[in-house]
Amino acid sequence: MRRAPVLIAGGGPVGMTLARTLASFGVRSLLVERNPTTTRHPKMDITNGRSMELFRRLGLADRLRAVAVPEENNFDISWITSLTGRELHRFRYPSVVQKRAEIRARNDGTQPREPAMRVSQVMIEPVLRDAILGDPLVDARWGVAFEGFAQDDEGVTATLRTVETGVTEQVRCDFLAGCDGGSSIVRDQLGIGLEGKAAVAHRYMIHFKSEVRDVLQAFGVAWHYQTDKGTLIAQDDKDTWTLQTRMPAEGEPDPEAMLDAWVGRSFPRKILVANPWFTHLLLADRYQGGRVFLAGDAAHQYIPTGGYGMNTGIGDAVDLGWKLAAALKGFAGRGLLASYERERRPVGYRNRLASERHTGVRLEIAELYQSERDPDVLGRAIAALGNAENESWGVEFGYRYDGVEPNPVVYEPTTAPGARLPSVFLRDGSALYDRLGPWFTLLCFGGADPSELIDAAPAPLDIVVVDDASLAPIYEASLVLVRPDTHVAWRGNACDDGVAVWAKVLA
Ligand SMILES: Cc1cc2nc3c(=O)[nH]c(=O)nc-3n(C[C@H](O)[C@H](O)[C@H](O)COP(=O)(O)OP(=O)(O)OC[C@H]3O[C@@H](n4cnc5c(N)ncnc54)[C@H](O)[C@@H]3O)c2cc1C
Repeated sequence: MRRAPVLIAGGGPVGMTLARTLASFGVRSLLVERNPTTTRHPKMDITNGRSMELFRRLGLADRLRAVAVPEENNFDISWITSLTGRELHRFRYPSVVQKRAEIRARNDGTQPREPAMRVSQVMIEPVLRDAILGDPLVDARWGVAFEGFAQDDEGVTATLRTVETGVTEQVRCDFLAGCDGGSSIVRDQLGIGLEGKAAVAHRYMIHFKSEVRDVLQAFGVAWHYQTDKGTLIAQDDKDTWTLQTRMPAEGEPDPEAMLDAWVGRSFPRKILVANPWFTHLLLADRYQGGRVFLAGDAAHQYIPTGGYGMNTGIGDAVDLGWKLAAALKGFAGRGLLASYERERRPVGYRNRLASERHTGVRLEIAELYQSERDPDVLGRAIAALGNAENESWGVEFGYRYDGVEPNPVVYEPTTAPGARLPSVFLRDGSALYDRLGPWFTLLCFGGADPSELIDAAPAPLDIVVVDDASLAPIYEASLVLVRPDTHVAWRGNACDDGVAVWAKVLA
């Protein structure tokens, strides 16, 4: 029987990120994806700054940016009457280039290491696929379906089926990760239920090519053009677009007629994919059953407002990845794997609430479209309601694993254990994030003595001495121990019992 330390069911963005994360720690995995190719459905269109920080640590940020919207282009949200009508209000957001300059200029720990990235799932998945196919530690197979598993004290035995031939085989692994999306078989077989609301809204998606930018960008380049009836997503600011709109209340949907109606006139285009779909607000009751874990949409499904679906899943993959690697390398404490659910499920819950809140604002705006006929008044009302769905920096960067609720809108830098490590640039111009080692890193400020923690370290540890008094206050302590996922593990001004600190960090 074939053996693999970790079997990953599902080759969406979360499964592929998990494979890459495990490989970065030297751990082999077998990934199976039932489809023969990566997705044709655009789905997600924002990879947030936190995911980009994590992708950067996985060596993927540049490769991903190469297929994304050009770095000079803005992230604006344009509310319009229709593309042949007028613009009501524009929420303006900087391009990647402008955001990078802002990050450099505000070196106070409030900024991300990486700006967000506009890109569709159609573009991102092949980059992730090529990265894992090129990695000798990942055995990735498309066209192979995961069918079921049985687990015992020592491991998991799974059944796989090659879709084309129907041939089945059994594999034995130490751990199984269910990254098999919203209708996860792994979740079902664990008997884990979902709580929340299913089928919140019936939507219709039309993904198309068109070069008539004078029509589609009538109000200039923006990322989203929004009305009460839906959102046109500019996928590359050139010729690829997605309309997300309502499913018609009656009759069969006619995507050609729906496009003309939304835009306000007919125009040349080629529809690539069009289909109805449902939004959900769901969270799995548990993220773990024995040696089996859930990550990504298998564990949570959101309305896309805010873009938390894949982004939350990337956080899951990195948290789970380093803990599985620590367990397989032999230095995880008895409770480390159980901490995955303890840390990530509350994030999944909070992000579901945030997605629901943002949808509420969209619904309020849609009602205003019906009640307010004066476009100037309507524009001002939209401005006043704001656009928290693309400004919730606390949701994106402020989530922490110590039970403290972050401010959803403002990211407040802290090194409280469980929080994301604040990012700064050092005096020599390098980024502190880029100096972190692959496993744990101990940051030493102001001549603090790291020897206790070094001598007691059961896991690989890098030391970074920060010789810049102006940065020390941001880090709130002389010694800051950072986990592989760039969350703070421990902090203190001195350490007199390194064994106890490590026991807690890896517990
Ligand atoms: C319209 C829309 C817009 C969105 N916008 C955003 C956004 O801006 N930002 C964001 O972060 N998220 C967004 N999302 C959500 C995002 O697309 C999902 O959260 C993301 O795809 C989840 O990734 P995943 O890998 O967990 O699951 P999936 O992408 O669903 O991947 C699961 C994979 O598992 C495979 N699989 C399933 N069962 C089996 C099996 N038995 N054997 C083998 N393989 C199997 C599937 O074929 C699939 O490839 C959006 C979604 C939609 C629909």
